[in-house]
Amino acid sequence: MKKFHIETYKKKIFKTISKYELLEEGDKIYIGLSGGKDSGSACFLLSEYIREKKINCILIAFYIKLGDFIPVKIIDLIKKQADICNVELKIYDIKDFGIYYDKIAKLNRPICSSCGTIKRYLMNKIPRENGATKLCTGHHGDDFIVFFIKNILGKNINWISKFTPYLKGREKQLSRIRPLFFVGGEDNKNFCGEIGLPYIDEDICPHRFLKQKIDKRREKWYQTIKEISKWQPNFREYFLEGVVELAKSLSLNISEPESCEICGEPTNKKICGFCKLMNLQFKNV
Ligand SMILES: [Zn+2]
Repeated sequence: MKKFHIETYKKKIFKTISKYELLEEGDKIYIGLSGGKDSGSACFLLSEYIREKKINCILIAFYIKLGDFIPVKIIDLIKKQADICNVELKIYDIKDFGIYYDKIAKLNRPICSSCGTIKRYLMNKIPRENGATKLCTGHHGDDFIVFFIKNILGKNINWISKFTPYLKGREKQLSRIRPLFFVGGEDNKNFCGEIGLPYIDEDICPHRFLKQKIDKRREKWYQTIKEISKWQPNFREYFLEGVVELAKSLSLNISEPESCEICGEPTNKKICGFCKLMNLQFKNV
């Protein structure tokens, strides 16, 4: 097992920020905090980079609360993370956007996909409407390797064009930055441990609180990457550098996103997934 070196880890992330020009003067960056190790690490290091390099930009953390079943201790922990990172935290509730988790959970469709639709939608809309120039997420290298393999298996080749540390925004789609693109989930865990940044160690999927079943297959993918990394040094870095190159050439033939006929937000269908859920939630009452 490779030993964790905090300086090497930090250097890797700072290099990603500068090489891919993730931060520019005058930026207003929103970062979604979930209470987990990944978004916590991204927030801490982005904040540190801005301070160290004296970049004139604003970093704001935000949290999207799915409902009242989210324990207070999780909200408190997120507040503590933002405090340690020295950034302002804004909390939003999906109810205020007209969507109700308990209604969505009862629909006859996979809850993980509904939850993903809601979060993706609001994580783009909220920052943009508040004047953000970019959205930062805590997705890390292992996430992108797994996304990559899944998209290859599903033959969704065009999606691969999005797998890069800096995904430029188009129309109402905010630009995305992923400072953790070249590090793994385990590294983020070690980093939080070393600097004393608290995080939720368990799966932060809300189903844990609603006592429903979660898909365990995801975890197997992550274990597989860990196994390969044991006998193939720098597997993650080399693999991801290849993915970035592939993404670059694929992005040349991507069409502009459409606008939802109801809400005007970006989508690749006539009606976006969020508006579909909005309609469905009241039909099942
Ligand atoms: Zn819509």
